[in-house]
Amino acid sequence: MELSLSQAQAIYEQAEAHKEIIQEVLLERVRQDNKFGPQNRPPFEWKIILDEEVGEVSHEVCEVYFRGEEFSDKYRKELVEVAAVALAALQNYDQRAAAASSSNS
Ligand SMILES: [Mg+2]
Repeated sequence: MELSLSQAQAIYEQAEAHKEIIQEVLLERVRQDNKFGPQNRPPFEWKIILDEEVGEVSHEVCEVYFRGEEFSDKYRKELVEVAAVALAALQNYDQRAAAASSSNS
Protein backbone atom coordinates (compact mmCIF):
# COMPACT_ATOMS: atom_id res chain seq x y z
CA MET A 1 0.00 0.00 0.00
CA GLU A 2 1.58 3.24 -1.15
CA LEU A 3 0.72 6.35 0.88
CA SER A 4 1.19 10.00 0.12
CA LEU A 5 3.04 12.07 2.70
CA SER A 6 -0.20 13.75 3.82
CA GLN A 7 -1.93 10.37 4.16
CA ALA A 8 0.98 9.04 6.18
CA GLN A 9 0.90 12.15 8.40
CA ALA A 10 -2.86 11.77 8.99
CA ILE A 11 -2.46 8.09 9.88
CA TYR A 12 0.42 8.86 12.24
CA GLU A 13 -1.60 11.55 14.03
CA GLN A 14 -4.59 9.22 14.39
CA ALA A 15 -2.35 6.40 15.56
CA GLU A 16 -0.92 8.65 18.27
CA ALA A 17 -4.41 9.00 19.71
CA HIS A 18 -4.63 5.19 20.05
CA LYS A 19 -1.09 4.61 21.19
CA GLU A 20 -1.73 3.88 24.87
CA ILE A 21 -4.47 1.33 24.30
CA ILE A 22 -2.51 -0.34 21.49
CA GLN A 23 0.47 -0.65 23.81
CA GLU A 24 -1.77 -2.26 26.40
CA VAL A 25 -3.01 -4.77 23.80
CA LEU A 26 0.57 -5.46 22.69
CA LEU A 27 1.60 -6.13 26.29
CA GLU A 28 -1.26 -8.61 26.59
CA ARG A 29 -0.25 -10.15 23.26
CA VAL A 30 3.30 -10.69 24.58
CA ARG A 31 1.96 -12.04 27.88
CA GLN A 32 -0.13 -14.59 25.98
CA ASP A 33 2.87 -15.58 23.85
CA ASN A 34 4.96 -16.08 26.98
CA LYS A 35 2.20 -18.11 28.61
CA PHE A 36 1.22 -20.33 25.66
CA GLY A 37 4.23 -20.20 23.36
CA PRO A 38 4.02 -19.75 19.60
CA GLN A 39 0.63 -20.83 18.29
CA ASN A 40 0.03 -22.06 14.78
CA ARG A 41 -3.66 -22.84 14.44
CA PRO A 42 -6.23 -23.02 11.69
CA PRO A 43 -8.80 -20.20 11.65
CA PHE A 44 -11.59 -22.29 13.19
CA GLU A 45 -9.46 -22.95 16.29
CA TRP A 46 -8.69 -19.24 16.62
CA LYS A 47 -12.43 -18.55 16.33
CA ILE A 48 -13.09 -20.91 19.24
CA ILE A 49 -10.41 -19.22 21.37
CA LEU A 50 -11.75 -15.78 20.46
CA ASP A 51 -15.30 -16.91 21.31
CA GLU A 52 -14.07 -18.09 24.70
CA GLU A 53 -12.60 -14.65 25.39
CA VAL A 54 -15.72 -12.88 24.14
CA GLY A 55 -17.69 -15.20 26.43
CA GLU A 56 -15.69 -13.89 29.36
CA VAL A 57 -16.66 -10.34 28.37
CA SER A 58 -20.28 -11.52 28.22
CA HIS A 59 -19.96 -13.03 31.67
CA GLU A 60 -18.80 -9.70 33.07
CA VAL A 61 -21.71 -7.92 31.37
CA CYS A 62 -24.16 -10.47 32.83
CA GLU A 63 -22.77 -9.89 36.31
CA VAL A 64 -23.53 -6.18 35.92
CA TYR A 65 -26.92 -6.66 34.32
CA PHE A 66 -28.37 -9.45 36.43
CA ARG A 67 -26.58 -8.96 39.76
CA GLY A 68 -26.56 -5.19 39.74
CA GLU A 69 -22.79 -5.04 40.04
CA GLU A 70 -20.66 -2.25 38.64
CA PHE A 71 -18.44 -2.64 35.60
CA SER A 72 -14.99 -3.41 36.87
CA ASP A 73 -11.42 -3.71 35.71
CA LYS A 74 -12.20 -7.37 34.95
CA TYR A 75 -14.55 -6.29 32.13
CA ARG A 76 -11.87 -4.03 30.72
CA LYS A 77 -9.18 -6.73 31.10
CA GLU A 78 -11.32 -9.21 29.16
CA LEU A 79 -11.77 -6.71 26.32
CA VAL A 80 -8.00 -6.28 26.10
CA GLU A 81 -7.66 -10.07 25.96
CA VAL A 82 -10.18 -10.24 23.10
CA ALA A 83 -8.16 -7.67 21.15
CA ALA A 84 -4.89 -9.53 21.80
CA VAL A 85 -6.33 -12.87 20.68
CA ALA A 86 -7.79 -11.24 17.55
CA LEU A 87 -4.33 -9.83 16.82
CA ALA A 88 -2.72 -13.25 17.29
CA ALA A 89 -5.31 -14.87 15.01
CA LEU A 90 -4.71 -12.25 12.34
CA GLN A 91 -0.93 -12.59 12.54
CA ASN A 92 -1.11 -16.37 12.38
CA TYR A 93 -3.52 -16.21 9.45
CA ASP A 94 -1.04 -14.03 7.54
CA GLN A 95 1.87 -16.33 8.46
CA ARG A 96 -0.03 -19.41 7.30
CA ALA A 97 -1.08 -17.69 4.07
CA ALA A 98 2.52 -16.64 3.37
CA ALA A 99 3.76 -20.17 4.08
CA ALA A 100 1.10 -21.66 1.79
CA SER A 101 1.97 -19.15 -0.93
CA SER A 102 5.69 -19.88 -0.78
CA SER A 103 5.13 -23.66 -0.82
CA ASN A 104 2.98 -23.29 -3.96
CA SER A 105 5.58 -21.35 -5.89
MG1 LIG B 1 -10.14 -13.77 29.30
